[in-house]
Amino acid sequence: MSEKVRVRFAPSPTGPLHMGGVRTALYNYLFAKKHGGDFILRIEDTDEKRFVEGAQEYIINSLKWCGIEPNEGAGYGGEKGPYVQSERRDLYKPFAEKLVESGHAYIAFDTPEELEQMREQAKQMGLPNWQYNGVTRSSMKNSLSLSKEEVEKRLAAGESYSVRIKMPRNEDIKFQDIIRGWVTVNTNNLDDKILVKPSGMPTYHLANIVDDHLMEITHVIRGEEWLPSAPLHVLLYDCLGWERPKFAHLPLILRPDGNGKLSKRDGDRLGFPVFPLNWVTSEGETYSGYKEAGYFPQAFVNMLSLLGWNPGNNEEIFSLEELIEKFSLERVGKSGARFDPDKTKWFNQQYLRSTSDEELAQMAQSHLTEDFNTTYVAKVCGLMKERATFIQDIVIDGDYFFNDVQDYDEKTVRKKWKDDTPQIMQELLVELEKIEDFNQQNIEAVFSAYLEKNEYGFGKVGPGFRLLVTGKGMGPSMFEICATLGKDKVISRMKEGIEKVNQLKATAE
Ligand code: GLU
Repeated sequence: MSEKVRVRFAPSPTGPLHMGGVRTALYNYLFAKKHGGDFILRIEDTDEKRFVEGAQEYIINSLKWCGIEPNEGAGYGGEKGPYVQSERRDLYKPFAEKLVESGHAYIAFDTPEELEQMREQAKQMGLPNWQYNGVTRSSMKNSLSLSKEEVEKRLAAGESYSVRIKMPRNEDIKFQDIIRGWVTVNTNNLDDKILVKPSGMPTYHLANIVDDHLMEITHVIRGEEWLPSAPLHVLLYDCLGWERPKFAHLPLILRPDGNGKLSKRDGDRLGFPVFPLNWVTSEGETYSGYKEAGYFPQAFVNMLSLLGWNPGNNEEIFSLEELIEKFSLERVGKSGARFDPDKTKWFNQQYLRSTSDEELAQMAQSHLTEDFNTTYVAKVCGLMKERATFIQDIVIDGDYFFNDVQDYDEKTVRKKWKDDTPQIMQELLVELEKIEDFNQQNIEAVFSAYLEKNEYGFGKVGPGFRLLVTGKGMGPSMFEICATLGKDKVISRMKEGIEKVNQLKATAE
């Protein structure tokens, strides 16, 4: 590629950024970095009615958390700003005028009520999808159907108007999409979309192409839902005599259980986050975010990278740097990518396992109510991380490292606490008490010697031992747990526990 690659992520601040939006941003980012280009964040807020307070900050914070920060754009500055469309309002006008002057667009005076009436009439005649287009425009109130004098009179009277594209009749609009190949649409299937609203604000279509041109965007990489708009955009570039950018429309992200597009409601229904960060609506309703649910941003980004793109082999774990190196739009598929919440957890597990015990300890501290020695917490993390998906699992499943044992696993009490277990525990406790250097090896040696001497299998002693020291039926190696907890705790838990479990057993029966 000879010219400098410039791509943009252009969300509308209509609410929190959906994970599909984050994937679009990610692919743009990866493509830009791979080609030594620029990644720009542009806020498309021309739809005043759908504007949501706080959404822009949310978008910026989400990208920051994911580590896919723009090097130019809203909140970042740059030479081609401003990067928020409402601040560029006056900039679009001359282009709309140019389109009208050159006959590619026209002025329409129809009021919303009149348009509604038209639609209603058409519906009654059995035409449910009435459109303002090459067939109907001659019977509407616009600069093509009215006389020049009438148009001037209306304009002089300050009547409000829209600017509409004059969609040509029966022409094929063709463009090449990097992911989909050649796309051809006949203009008879397209309507005369509004380019400038009566308020003077451009619509998404006009603002989008003007900004892509002025910001020197080379590649438009966006979601499939924008594919139907692409022919109009291509036509506008041609009408204005501008070079078209290259297009790449990304496949949809499908919900886990069906063919529909992944939506906010699927997250609520199936219990997984759809948003990168928590979002609280103006009504006080909270939508959960990956960050607050305990995901590593790297795991979230890694998972997203594979929703539509594939590296061409079975590899799945990629750092951001590796993704930059390996990513290509040619390896993005056309068909929808199914989101898998379990796989997302799996990614988090992989990242948790590969994080150092010391780093995990720092993260775990924020989930602990008391301050513990960092070396101790790191040791616990090292022991627990193989079985954990989230950092909070370490604290919850390993609560016996941080608190006295309060509860004993009911099933283990019922099944493994036999009549002779109290006696066995008593004997084991005596042996353990004799150990001077209470380390893993010594504990294991004493435990094994005890089994051997009495000709006991592990199953006769192990579960009761674990139950007394941890309250659980499962967990990491008991010898490591005991060495980490220290002799005093192990001995006192065994001593106090025997009677408590006996009582539990008695009440359970
Ligand atoms: N503002 C559009 C959106 O909210 C952007 C579409 C595009 O990238 O052209 O997704």
